[in-house]
Amino acid sequence: MSEPAEAHAVLGQLAPMDVAGRAPRLQERLDGAEVDALLLTDLTNIRYITGFTGSAARLLVTASGLTFVTDGRYGEQAAAQLRDAGVAAVIEVSNAEQKDVLVKAVESAGARRVGLEAESVTWAAQRAYDESWFPDAELVPTTGLVAGLRAVKDQGEIDRITAASRVADTALAQVRARLDDRPTEAEFGLELDTAMRRLGADDVSFETIVASGPNGALPHHRAGPRTIAAGDLVVIDFGALVDGYHADMTRTVAVGAPSSTQERMLAVVGEAQAAGVAAVRAGVDAKAVDAACREVIGAAGWLDAFLHSTGHGVGLDIHEDPRLAQTSEAVLAPGHVVTVEPGVYLPEHGGVRIEDTVVVTDEGCVTITLAPKVTTVAA
Ligand code: ZN
Ligand code: ZN
Repeated sequence: MSEPAEAHAVLGQLAPMDVAGRAPRLQERLDGAEVDALLLTDLTNIRYITGFTGSAARLLVTASGLTFVTDGRYGEQAAAQLRDAGVAAVIEVSNAEQKDVLVKAVESAGARRVGLEAESVTWAAQRAYDESWFPDAELVPTTGLVAGLRAVKDQGEIDRITAASRVADTALAQVRARLDDRPTEAEFGLELDTAMRRLGADDVSFETIVASGPNGALPHHRAGPRTIAAGDLVVIDFGALVDGYHADMTRTVAVGAPSSTQERMLAVVGEAQAAGVAAVRAGVDAKAVDAACREVIGAAGWLDAFLHSTGHGVGLDIHEDPRLAQTSEAVLAPGHVVTVEPGVYLPEHGGVRIEDTVVVTDEGCVTITLAPKVTTVAA
């Protein structure tokens, strides 16, 4: 199947990403983490540092270089992807000797303290590394070393998230009128997913949420057999995936004229969402954005009906740093890409959530989700 012309029009030209510039920035962080070597096992982090997209690899990072190991399935792919990304690494392709290669690399680097990624290493793996791989080294649990780098996107990454957002915006515009025909949630979700694929998405960003009527009061309802009916609010939370990067947006559509309570919910969440976006700026505490949304919803008397935090970073993962939550310690920086997605959930009336993805700048932010915030289809 040839690439449809409409896909090219939506995706546009994507700027190259500076993949090769990432490993040096990670190497600079080793001293601060008090490790001589860092063993990456999280595949998304390995993709970020090397450009490798396969499903099996380990990457040892020391001050002097990178040692990349994978199995026989991925030898050629690894060589090609690292070369294309301009990443210099010793690549070892082996099914049986990965351990020996990494042990030798640790020894020849003279590494005494070896960092592991605490959030992705299982207990069993940690025991194996400790007892049989690196018995003479001290294993150090590390967190956030790559995540901190990933949080700040380069222009190529922003281009990909923007393209994914464009696909999602366009797909919703194409299929929204289908709500007039009263599909089930699942049918509508499938139409949206199909439209995104046709527009050039590599995949959906996550399982599309279509939550109508009472289901809308469940923030993470998926898309089920319920037939969408007059009087429903329909929460549609979805996104497209483009070259590994995720889009994330939510719109709430009223089917027929909303009730007075539903109208107020739409207005309050819209105001809260705008207040959150207005609070986004480099140097601001992430929790201040959450507070800006919560203040508007609290003033309307619905604080208890805002059942989740305000937002999260988006990139190679759908949920990544920084988190925009009451407990967040993060400070926003230029190049962060985050969602702002307050909601109000009332079982008798349904749910309203509005979510945009924005790029943090020194002056404020650039909203990359362009779909109209609130729309109504005929009853
Ligand atoms: Zn979402
Ligand atoms: Zn989200």
